Amino acid sequence: MKDLQADLDQRRADGLYRRRRIIDSAQGVETRIDGKMVLSFCSNDYLGLANHPDISQAFVDAVGHYGVGSGAAHLINGHSRAHEQLEQRLAEFTGRERALLFSTGYMANIAIASALLGRNDLVYQDRLNHASLLDSARLCDARLVRYRHNDVAQLEALLSDGRRDRRRLIMTDGVFSMDGDCADLESLGRIAAEHGAWAMVDDAHGFGVLGTRGAGLLEQLELAQQQVPILMATLGKAVGTAGAFVAGSEALIETLIQQARPYIYTTASPPALAAATLKAIDIVETESWRREKLFESVAYFRAQAQALGLDLMASETAIQPIVIGDNQEALSLSNALYERGIHVTAIRPPTVPVGSARLRVTLSAAHERAHIDRLIEALKSVGWSA
Ligand SMILES: *Cc1c(COP(=O)(O)O)cnc(C)c1O
Repeated sequence: MKDLQADLDQRRADGLYRRRRIIDSAQGVETRIDGKMVLSFCSNDYLGLANHPDISQAFVDAVGHYGVGSGAAHLINGHSRAHEQLEQRLAEFTGRERALLFSTGYMANIAIASALLGRNDLVYQDRLNHASLLDSARLCDARLVRYRHNDVAQLEALLSDGRRDRRRLIMTDGVFSMDGDCADLESLGRIAAEHGAWAMVDDAHGFGVLGTRGAGLLEQLELAQQQVPILMATLGKAVGTAGAFVAGSEALIETLIQQARPYIYTTASPPALAAATLKAIDIVETESWRREKLFESVAYFRAQAQALGLDLMASETAIQPIVIGDNQEALSLSNALYERGIHVTAIRPPTVPVGSARLRVTLSAAHERAHIDRLIEALKSVGWSA
């Protein structure tokens, strides 16, 4: 075990050591973390639904009916009426033929690449894709080809070179998880179709947040199933519960059910979770004020931060990172903010490229102006000023 400790020490020296703070309250803007009340600016609970009373009640009611455990995998006897209803609701909500639930987004991504691609097939990925997409390529037999961030021209050149007789899958974040900008899905869907490839979007940070009904980036861009045939989205972020789903054609979903090992060989998530998510989707769809309020906060934060001279990224979403560069510096700024009652985690490599450590500020519909003012004041007091 000697090597392990040496590696851990090196990790600490490089400013890459990660540690968990313990939270003693429900998710929300004001949380108790490591024994201290802080204002949180790093949750993915973008709509403030993680502790919504109606969603909690739906969960409790369903526990009364189903109990807690699902008992088995979906293909054995774990597929409940609640799972089935949620899948139908998600298909209808996203305008896709069918949807399939997964326990986590990580597993859904692994499932897609491994069920659809085999040896000699190709998978094309944006360089800034989420780690779970990258891992999905690593864990299947296909060859991974990476293209520069949002560089559709390079992707097109790569597709023109590649072999048309193989299956070719393009995988991209919809809203990039550490930068907050969006993929050019319209161009991506078009060139995929022109070159006989499949386009897949991971809309973990767009689902619930973008589109007039909250159905995500595809709704915002009005892209149908023919244009972007594979949609994956998660339920643990804006939707406020947990899990994920894939939506698309009947043949796609049936292929996943038959072939995807992360679907077949795992216990179904609790039925009550599906019931709670069903309630959450209703709230996402009907309470559009949450999205409006979130985007007002985004605009307000950007204006205030820019007045302070902060170099923000070109993001119009809830993800508003402040790039610091150096790992230790990002870490000490995060700690200094925590001392002032503001929680923003420092995001470091390999989650982001080397030399681009950042404070990943995220906003939520639960934030009020006064909260954002406190964040801005804290940023001033740790050294930022115009
Ligand atoms: C969070 C995230 C995932 C993983 O989803 P989980 O349900 O948390 O496993 C996948 N892709 C992206 C882009 C994410 O941000």
